[in-house]
Amino acid sequence: MFNLNYKNIIIFGPQASGKGTQADVLAEKFGVPHISTGAIFRDEIRGGTELGKKVEGILNAGNLVPDEITNEIVKNRLSKSDCSAGFVLEGYPRNISQAGFLDKVAKVDLALEVWISDEEAVMRIGGRRNCPKCGTPYHLKFNPSKKEGVCDKDGEKLIIRDDESDEIIKQRLKNYHEQTEPIIDFYKERGIYKKIDGMPSISEVTSMIMKVVEE
Ligand code: AMP
Repeated sequence: MFNLNYKNIIIFGPQASGKGTQADVLAEKFGVPHISTGAIFRDEIRGGTELGKKVEGILNAGNLVPDEITNEIVKNRLSKSDCSAGFVLEGYPRNISQAGFLDKVAKVDLALEVWISDEEAVMRIGGRRNCPKCGTPYHLKFNPSKKEGVCDKDGEKLIIRDDESDEIIKQRLKNYHEQTEPIIDFYKERGIYKKIDGMPSISEVTSMIMKVVEE
């Protein structure tokens, strides 16, 4: 049985920690929406909206979107009726100031960090390849295309996403350590922080998270 005290959950971790996958599982189990600020920004970019145009360069450079833009998006999203029974918020907050803002708009019940080492993050992201035509993701080690370097579906030459180049991965990890990690103490002080080891397989990590939320 789930611990019903856990209504509003945030989940964070370095790039490629699997936080998005685990957020999906959690949201489904709890029957609440999975809200990912990264996904919101990528949707806006794909849709060619004003906001998308504003943030595209920032995402490609591996930097954080300014707080005043991100905070407003999160506030609006959390005010929607589907969040009334709770939510799983992924990729936000990403710095202390966002954590302070979130504190004013919602009561966070559980802050989960999915931890992986920098070496693991570099290894996981470094192997990613994408089809520029249909968007299918591949991984050299975990999910390779049948023929090296080309998409199984349309034969297009696979590419490395701008924000997944070696240099940008390092920038994103640096941002994570400098800007996001301080939120750990913020949530520790509130007694709602739990660290999950993200190094094992997806299903093992899910089991560990389930143990936390079923306590
Ligand atoms: P993610 O998919 O969570 O790694 O997010 C992808 C990118 O979206 C990040 O590298 C940032 O550029 C941007 N982004 C996502 N969430 C936030 C946030 N909470 N604050 C600022 N920028 C964000």
